[in-house]
Amino acid sequence: MHIFDEETQRISDEIGAYVDLRLRMDPVALDQPRTFAELSEMAGQTITADGLGGSAALKLFTDILAPACISTDHPRYLAFIPTAPTELSSLFDLVVGASGIYGGSWLEGAGAVYAENQALAWIAALAGFPATSGGVFMQGGTVGNLSALVTARESARAKFGNEYRWVLLVSENAHSSIASAARVMDVDIVQCAIDQSGRLLGSSVLDAVNSLSGKQKAFAVVATSGSTNLGIIDDLASIADAAEAAELWFHVDGAYGAAALAAPSARPLFNGIERADSFIVDPHKWFFAPFDACALLYRNPHLGKRAHTQEAGYLKSLQEPDAWNPSDFGIQLSRRPRGLPFWYSLASHGTKKYVDAVERTLEVARDAARLVGECPVTEVVYPPALSIVAFRRIGWGPEQYKKWSDQLLADQIGFVTPSTHQGETILRFAIVNPRTTPEDISTILATLA
Ligand SMILES: *Cc1c(COP(=O)(O)O)cnc(C)c1O
Repeated sequence: MHIFDEETQRISDEIGAYVDLRLRMDPVALDQPRTFAELSEMAGQTITADGLGGSAALKLFTDILAPACISTDHPRYLAFIPTAPTELSSLFDLVVGASGIYGGSWLEGAGAVYAENQALAWIAALAGFPATSGGVFMQGGTVGNLSALVTARESARAKFGNEYRWVLLVSENAHSSIASAARVMDVDIVQCAIDQSGRLLGSSVLDAVNSLSGKQKAFAVVATSGSTNLGIIDDLASIADAAEAAELWFHVDGAYGAAALAAPSARPLFNGIERADSFIVDPHKWFFAPFDACALLYRNPHLGKRAHTQEAGYLKSLQEPDAWNPSDFGIQLSRRPRGLPFWYSLASHGTKKYVDAVERTLEVARDAARLVGECPVTEVVYPPALSIVAFRRIGWGPEQYKKWSDQLLADQIGFVTPSTHQGETILRFAIVNPRTTPEDISTILATLA
């Protein structure tokens, strides 16, 4: 269906103009959701027998649908984990979409896979992984974690047989996607004790191993670097010792925080990650790429391959002995080469800009913690280990937090949602956008008075 007629040319120009406009906005419009009833009223039925035409459908998107989505790249979007894609990575996402590349195999996507692998190699080197390590860009951290843990269990089965009830060792600060992976895999989860500062230590991993009953056998420990709520980084070095002693697969979930491997000021916090069997980091979180991409890295990629390669007669032609097929390393077959927008931006800007940008966000997080401390009605709950600042509005309960958060969005000032910590409702600023300034933080704090 390649009909590039005059109308297509016009729509191409219109899409180009919109992309241009969106990428030039500084700041972007924050925007906010609408109810289903409102959208039904405003957008109506969009799928019709004769079609709306490209221009009208685009206008529907730019005027009604897009403004009903919160801009996660707004500098005062500090809820959950925001995004902050570079202009070049967003633009290159269009190129990827227009290029018809199948990213699942070397045979079909060699050039794309070559480029993606260089981007992965940069991340692997930051973690001190050997040159023989490797992996794949997956859809997100949830799928990346699951794929790594499936590999971990497959490796344990190969080593120890399959007589056991498999157990995954985690801390209570582990991301919800780990519990989800355990459900999908039908393995048990055992929570290891954390220390006063919320970190998992190797000693409590060993305690948990020793507490298992006859049929249970631990196959992996998941450390988090850093946790999504507070940015806490587990003690990776002592966990690596414990994993070695108990013959566990050591997986590090760095979906949010491992981008700080690039920042010299934070790098020591990750010592021990070089001994992991696998780790993940999401470029769509703190590595300035658009949704969605998770880098999954294995110390020994052949173990990933053994766990994940799909077999079928029609796929045999892909299995050349030295072909690097991204689909071999996770739960997927067809794949968009979703690491390419990240690769293009990294290749264009150079790695130093990435180092500077991550350092900048760490600095703003420290400034934010100071501003929270200076503000008479707020106090820091957990000093920022990375770029998340958890704090309380003194004297407030859950309902006041919610009302304030709703109003902040309604007034189009910012997006900050309540969280909880040890049973208490709190607020958190998650800062991954180098455009977020201390003035942005002050603007938000001023509304808490
Ligand atoms: C965000 C996050 C995940 C999940 O990643 P998705 O890309 O949202 O699937 C997993 N672990 C941690 C620590 C995270 O912050």
